Amino acid sequence: MRIAVVGTGYVGLVSGACFANVGHLVTCIDLDESRITDLSNGKVPFFEPGLDAMVAENLGSGRLSFAPDMAQSVANADVVLIAVGTPTRRGDGQAELTYVHAAAKAIAVHIRNFTVVITKSTVPVGTGDEVEQMMRRANPAADFVVVSNPEFLRQGNAIKDFAYPDRIIVGIDDAQAKPVIEQLYAPISEDGNRLVFTGRRSAELTKYAANAFLAMKVSFINEIADLCEKTGADVRDVSLGLGLDPRIGPKFLAPGPGFGGSCFPKDTLALAQTGREFGSPMRLVEATIAINEQRKHAMAQRIIDTCGGDVHGKKIAVLGLTFKPNTDDLRDASSIAIIEALQGVGASIAAYDPQGTRPAQAILHDVEFCADPYAAANNAECLVLVTEWDIFRSLDFNRIHASMTSPRVVDLRNIFDPSVLQSLGFRYRGLGLPEIK
Ligand code: NAD
Repeated sequence: MRIAVVGTGYVGLVSGACFANVGHLVTCIDLDESRITDLSNGKVPFFEPGLDAMVAENLGSGRLSFAPDMAQSVANADVVLIAVGTPTRRGDGQAELTYVHAAAKAIAVHIRNFTVVITKSTVPVGTGDEVEQMMRRANPAADFVVVSNPEFLRQGNAIKDFAYPDRIIVGIDDAQAKPVIEQLYAPISEDGNRLVFTGRRSAELTKYAANAFLAMKVSFINEIADLCEKTGADVRDVSLGLGLDPRIGPKFLAPGPGFGGSCFPKDTLALAQTGREFGSPMRLVEATIAINEQRKHAMAQRIIDTCGGDVHGKKIAVLGLTFKPNTDDLRDASSIAIIEALQGVGASIAAYDPQGTRPAQAILHDVEFCADPYAAANNAECLVLVTEWDIFRSLDFNRIHASMTSPRVVDLRNIFDPSVLQSLGFRYRGLGLPEIK
């Protein structure tokens, strides 16, 4: 099949590369011309494991190409994917649809034959109807169907998630689209078993419901962790026992510094706003958002408390800046709020992240970005683990102890062994753990 993908971010580029990899002919389009030039030369503009190699291979085979404008590829396409950003709109928290609308109108103008237009971007329920109307107005003669096919890939594991999906949710209100979708996904849908066809509005809402539910799980376990600390329970045991119930499941039950990233914060805000717009309050989601906001400040306060109540003039080492491991994405990362809160009370910050330094330099100010974790820890009063990159699991804590001004560790992901660190002479604080006697 011939596919045009509009938007070459994490979702568009991964989708385009994966569809090319299973044999479709894909052209990816982006407004950002320098990005298109880089991609045409095989240079992927962000870090996603395995993506460089997949892009290079499919460029080489001629199945994947890149273009700064959509005219030709949309005119030739059987399927067009909209994979542009839907950030939080200023003011009310709803998803900003400017990019989706602009892409839809431009696509409409270039359509020549029957085309299935798929919205992969996360968009509020009812957006498919709006997109369809806009496209009809932009080109009344165009023959197309608008489908909702929200994406569930996780950054850091995106290729595997795309190639081996748990489910492929497809919202269609026009049966003409069904055989096209079946053909599109035939190489990865396991005889169609992964395909779940719904109405368009249900598919749109499913994406928000999924992300809000996961975010709710995170805020829930964060509050349970706080309660563990107050009561002498151990959140690791509670999570284990909780997660063994198949109705609950073990994932997303690790306490942390609050959820961040390009999806959970904006999607929970958007769903809460949708609830307000339709007079159907999303109270659990509202609470999830509030708990998460408060969580980042509570983490900064925890660091200050661990340093004796004052960090003015003190050096704090921060390990991990990205919102999770295996990505270079800092969008809404908890590290930002925590670092800014510490800087606000006079701390100086030295940070290390395996992939996030370059994007962090554009967001964080007055931070010493270090070449490795040991340089960050040198002369620090406290070492704070924010993102659980694997390389932090094998740190040489004897070396770190010798180089710190005060050997304190605040572990916001519970990846270190408290008793080992305490035996080395560190003051250790994790999340939701009982005091070590
Ligand atoms: P992104 O910001 O990384 O990329 C969006 C790209 O679209 C940018 O390169 C931008 O230049 C381009 N663009 C914007 N308007 C355009 C237009 N009119 N024509 C051509 N290109 C245009 O975004 P992302 O993280 O890939 O997310 C895209 C969508 O997918 C969002 O709605 C997001 O919520 C959703 N989503 C993201 C993830 C994720 O893990 N990042 C997962 C599932 C769903």
